[in-house]
Amino acid sequence: MANLKGIASYCQECGACTVNNQSCSSQQLDDYFVKIVVNEVIKNVYPDLKPQVESESVYPPIPLGVSNHHVHITKETFEKLFGAGKELEHYRDLYQPNEFAAKQMVTIAGPKMRAIQNVRILGPLRKYDQVEVSLTDAIQLGISPPIHNSGDLEGAAPLTLIGPKSSIYLEHCAIIANRHMHMTSHDAQLFGVEDGDFCKVRIGGEKGTVFENVLVRVNDNWKLQLHLDTDDANAANVRCSMHVEFVGKI
Ligand SMILES: [Zn+2]
Repeated sequence: MANLKGIASYCQECGACTVNNQSCSSQQLDDYFVKIVVNEVIKNVYPDLKPQVESESVYPPIPLGVSNHHVHITKETFEKLFGAGKELEHYRDLYQPNEFAAKQMVTIAGPKMRAIQNVRILGPLRKYDQVEVSLTDAIQLGISPPIHNSGDLEGAAPLTLIGPKSSIYLEHCAIIANRHMHMTSHDAQLFGVEDGDFCKVRIGGEKGTVFENVLVRVNDNWKLQLHLDTDDANAANVRCSMHVEFVGKI
């Protein structure tokens, strides 16, 4: 298995951990898949021969992305916080195509007046306002957000967003994003999963662990990547720029 111990630092600058992730090209995944099939044939027909893939996993390695707390907002909310006519400015591309970390950041404050500063806005602007936090952030803010898919704000917790021009109270905006894996339909075929399935992934290293209930999200505009929040990543002592193993569908 490639690079299970490679560890890089968090992207402290942008607050959205995206740096130096190596993607697997479709060709690499196809080559790997061929080896897996050959492996299976060898195991079944010639059980005494050495397998071709030197790994416990028979699946392609999955790049890991760690998401720090961040905000998605509408144009209306953005202009309220930063001023009418202001534009969201590009700071850094994210790993997923067309997504970027913006230069602008906000402060988020909970009902107990406890706040987190310098929370990055991720672009492009959305049709809804959503704040993604970890459980550690939620405890600091004094809120109890549900664990949800991005975009599902049913029962989401309240926060106030504070910008340089104004602030806005959002009754239902904060969630803890569920563990999820972005992939194309081609990747989904390789892993034998479909959009909406749940799976397990294994992380190696000194604090290696298995993460369950990882939601599979399929879209041909995405690149293969597991998304964990900072609590999950810290528990396994991992950062971006490493790969994890697919264990299987749940
Ligand atoms: Zn994601």
